[in-house]
Amino acid sequence: MNEIDLITHADALACHYLSSLNARRVFPDEAACRGLEAFNEPLPVQGCDNAAILEMLDHYGSPATVASAGPNYFGFVIGASLPAAAAAERLVLAWDQCASSYINSPVAHTLEKLAGEWVKEILQLPKESALGFGTSATACGLSCLATAQRVLLQRAGWDIAKKGLRQAPAIKVVVSEKVHVTLLKALRILGFGSDDITYARCDSQGRILPQSLPKLDELTLLCLQAGEVNTGEFDPFSEIIPSANRAKSWVHIDGAFGLWARASERHTYLTNGIELADSWTTDGHKWLNTPYDSAMAICRHARDFAATLSGDAVYAQASEDAQKNLTLEFSRRARGIAVWAALKSLGKSGIAALIDKHIQLAQRLADGMREIGFEVINKPVLNQVLARCETDEKTQTFLANIQNSGVTWFGPTVWDNRAAFRLSISAWRTEDEHIEKLLETLKRYYPTTSGN
Ligand SMILES: *Cc1c(COP(=O)(O)O)cnc(C)c1O
Repeated sequence: MNEIDLITHADALACHYLSSLNARRVFPDEAACRGLEAFNEPLPVQGCDNAAILEMLDHYGSPATVASAGPNYFGFVIGASLPAAAAAERLVLAWDQCASSYINSPVAHTLEKLAGEWVKEILQLPKESALGFGTSATACGLSCLATAQRVLLQRAGWDIAKKGLRQAPAIKVVVSEKVHVTLLKALRILGFGSDDITYARCDSQGRILPQSLPKLDELTLLCLQAGEVNTGEFDPFSEIIPSANRAKSWVHIDGAFGLWARASERHTYLTNGIELADSWTTDGHKWLNTPYDSAMAICRHARDFAATLSGDAVYAQASEDAQKNLTLEFSRRARGIAVWAALKSLGKSGIAALIDKHIQLAQRLADGMREIGFEVINKPVLNQVLARCETDEKTQTFLANIQNSGVTWFGPTVWDNRAAFRLSISAWRTEDEHIEKLLETLKRYYPTTSGN
């Protein structure tokens, strides 16, 4: 097969997969997972026929996928590529651009710059902010926290670029007791130990209690959350950030999915005051429904952000707004183009409608679950529903049975030291009918008092 025939064939298989998405088992069965053993072979000495590679991938690979892009998947916080974003991604793949700077790819630079402006506008964040398209909220959080560390030390008269970190003044990091594990990972990579971190206590819904914050000062790095992963809740930004600003602390916001509440006029109130922070991270691949790996680091202090992440080399000098100076990578794919396509296809009103729809579906789901008899733990204000059965044992059995059913899938969590589970409504494909179907399934698997 020549290159074009091969790619055409791949596109046909991809389309076939997509059209089967709604009907697929949500989590693959055991036989499909066992089928993956077919890939278990030594590194080939001789190359293999291209068409055979593709056949193998589809034959053994496709059945072992999780239909997380389908409408019946409610695990983690997982979106599904919007048609415009998925289509743009396919063309971008053919372009095969390195999105480092203008001289690497004029089109990538131009579209990512525009997409960045649009994201700041729809999220109502300061226009002067730098915006880097990183792989994940993890990587983007790391970029923001590295900038925070550099700037706080600089203000204290310590030039990290010259003197390094070993003897530097201590920075006090303050996070929520419900902090996302990836933020702790970023802090660990930056050299912060558990002794450097103070955990602020939260209320029953996972929101920081302002009175539980330690004294903030000019060497404090305060991390708040927009969208706690279990409850979808928000820290009380307008109560906390102004006083953090007065103390000259750095405020970073982890808004992997919750930041998108700002795109809906009806739900912006959840994030009031968030615009006063110094840096923000959010994902494209969760609620904006772009392909993986897509996330954004946004920093009010554009020059400091570019200085922290600068990848200028003698052979590759570029401007402060070149993406290689705004992300961890030097060479990378043009992931911001799918963000541009998603925003262009839905527009401001379409994004707001998507957010509103998911929140409304979460509320319908929570009401229906209470009627069945589940304990719904959160309100819910966003797209997350946190619930449990009467006892931990019942919760665990219920979850195992429903996960094996192949009809839907969602995962376990722990809340108040007890077993629970959470459902996230994040994929654009999920509609009322899927929530009604989900409620029927939940009812069927609901553990009755006779203990099944
Ligand atoms: C998913 C998530 C992250 C990590 O995002 P990745 O893109 O998976 O790295 C961080 N914080 C919160 C609140 C999240 O939901």
